[in-house]
Amino acid sequence: MLKRLEIVGFKSFAKKTILDFSNSTTAIVGPNGSGKSNVAEAFRFALGEQSMKSMRGKRAEDLIWGGSHTAPRANRASVAIIFDNSRRTFKIDFDEVSLERAVFRDGTSEYSINGSRVRLRDIEELLAGANIGETGHHIISQGESDRILLANNRERRAMLEDALGLKIYEFKKNEAQRKLIKTEDNIVQVNSLRRELAPHMRFLDNQVKKLDRADELRTELINIAQTYFSIEEVYLAQEKLKVSGEKMNASERLAVATEELKNIEERSTTDVEGVKRLELLRKLEKDVERVNGERSALARTIGRVEGALSVAKEHREKVVQEPYVKVPREDLATLAREVENHIAEESRTPDALYAVLVAVGKTIKAFMSRYTTPESDMLAEEERTAYALQNERKELLDKDSRLAEELERAKSALARAREALIAHDETGRELRRRTLDFAQSEAHEEGIVAKCEAREHELTLISEVLERDKGELLVLAGISAVSYVPLPVPPTEERRVQEDRRRAMERVKIRLEEAGGTGEDIRQEHKEMSDREAFLANELNDLAKSASGLGALIKDLDTELAKHFSEGLVKVNASFSEYFALMFGGGNARLTLEEPEEPELEEFNDDMSGPSFAKATEGKAGIEIDVNLPKKKVRSLMQLSGGERALTSIALIFAMSQVNPPPFLILDETDAALDEANSRRYGDMIDSLAKKSQLIVITHNRETMGHTNILYGVTMGGDGISKLLSVKFDEAVAVAK
Ligand code: ATP
Repeated sequence: MLKRLEIVGFKSFAKKTILDFSNSTTAIVGPNGSGKSNVAEAFRFALGEQSMKSMRGKRAEDLIWGGSHTAPRANRASVAIIFDNSRRTFKIDFDEVSLERAVFRDGTSEYSINGSRVRLRDIEELLAGANIGETGHHIISQGESDRILLANNRERRAMLEDALGLKIYEFKKNEAQRKLIKTEDNIVQVNSLRRELAPHMRFLDNQVKKLDRADELRTELINIAQTYFSIEEVYLAQEKLKVSGEKMNASERLAVATEELKNIEERSTTDVEGVKRLELLRKLEKDVERVNGERSALARTIGRVEGALSVAKEHREKVVQEPYVKVPREDLATLAREVENHIAEESRTPDALYAVLVAVGKTIKAFMSRYTTPESDMLAEEERTAYALQNERKELLDKDSRLAEELERAKSALARAREALIAHDETGRELRRRTLDFAQSEAHEEGIVAKCEAREHELTLISEVLERDKGELLVLAGISAVSYVPLPVPPTEERRVQEDRRRAMERVKIRLEEAGGTGEDIRQEHKEMSDREAFLANELNDLAKSASGLGALIKDLDTELAKHFSEGLVKVNASFSEYFALMFGGGNARLTLEEPEEPELEEFNDDMSGPSFAKATEGKAGIEIDVNLPKKKVRSLMQLSGGERALTSIALIFAMSQVNPPPFLILDETDAALDEANSRRYGDMIDSLAKKSQLIVITHNRETMGHTNILYGVTMGGDGISKLLSVKFDEAVAVAK
């Protein structure tokens, strides 16, 4: 409810002027040109009117007191409307609401609500919420009462929506649309962010897949290694036990045979010849022993050389498989330094770019050449080692076979000496047989012992290889590769199976070495990226949800708007035809919906409220007015007389105000064209309207004045300043003249 209007420097109101509206109907009366319409415009102005034309001006300056010979011009015009808000008509928590607008000569406007600066939009929203719209159906300016008749169908629709208080839906819809656009922008942004991340994500995915593959290989390797090691260990233990047992038995038997031979020999040595023979025998025995000793020493050397040879061969295999080159950090640092130096040259002489590129190229080539042939180099090295070892081995084997021959010779000499000794012995027949037996068995057992020793040596080598393998596996696959449960007995399988196992292990080892390390940092980064990706996906989901929510809201608002509009239309029509019949003493009139057409934007002029208005009515059916005058066949608005037009528009304005009463209604000489009879009816309608809305009527009409509670007279003296005074009815009638 209106409480007060405060005008300072607005148009002809040079001085601060206050109008109190404590009563339901106020009349403003006064002579022509005294400034009454300026009061109506002050309302428009304070409510945020943007059209200069509807305030009868061209520029902002026209709204500001222009000065006269008694009072200088003002630089600022301001109008404040104070409302009683104890019933919370405005959706803010104050008992009194003051809307103030000031305009300056440069055209800028300032708005405030209860003294706080706000935007125009805030004022508009607050007003829409209180059913005070922007198209000004609640302020009917002088001569504009038939504006609604003159308007086109779409403008009329906007006026009707506004009058029905549906503006708030438009506001909400616009708000939702703004949010929707923002949400869609965000969706686009999030999507492009995801697209940007995708290649790196794919890269990390691949890396992690490789790491997973490496993990699989590691597991596979661990499994094979555990089996291999457990079998190998028990195999070696058992073999060693077996061979040492064999060796011990053979040695024992050998000792027996040797002892027996010695006994026989001693018994057959009583004569000089016999002693000589015996001495020869002893010497030959020593020879055999020496050659034997030399041979076993040689066998150890051969074993060592063979071991070294197998290691060298293994190295050579590794070199062939090794795809990496070890480059010392120092070399890399030198390379970087050299390249930087070349680049520094370039900055000194700007034309030297090409020369620098050539120099850098050379540097890199030189660097590469140091590392591009390592394989063949290393291979040659290994080959040389292997070759030397092979040669050494061959020499040793030759020596061994020479020793073997020598041994053979020594043995047969020994055998001959024994035979000679025995032949020499008269009792030799029996002894010869036994000597032969023992000598045979001695040779046999010696062979077995030698074989056992060779085998023992071989087993030692295998043990060494096993330990080396374990060491490598520990480095490559971790402790679990060498943590295995030892087997009590080796499995019943051929040795070949275990050899296959070792080869398989070697293959997996090489592949694992190629696959690289555990890549904890890659996994970490992959996790972070996945989290981020999931976060974005989630956000996108939320955004999509809120977009569809907003879409639904917009649809709901449209539906609601359409529903309220059609309900409102029915009510307005009922009221319209009633008022129409009352004013015309019969006949009827109604609003109808036309088919919606494409909006023609150029039709909108300065008088309508700009683009938001255009948008609001876009694609909606416009409103047509059908009139049916009593006793006349006139149906077109064009054919109505001035008075009839006034009556029709008054009936429509009142009908709209009736259905959705605005808090206040300003009627500026709406009654100007009415004859006496219609003035009376108008007065009656004022009374009925006043029950629902506060009315301010600017009038010269005595009949109308009679229906108001408070009267203000506006006068203008020679100074051109409008002055306001409260008047009694009789004074008012006089003043108005
Ligand atoms: P009527 O009864 O004839 O309609 P009115 O009482 O409604 O008259 P207005 O149209 O409100 O009169 O007042 C117009 C007066 O206001 C004119 O005298 C005009 O000179 C004056 N006026 C308009 N703008 C300014 C301004 N910026 N500065 C000073 N005076 C102004």
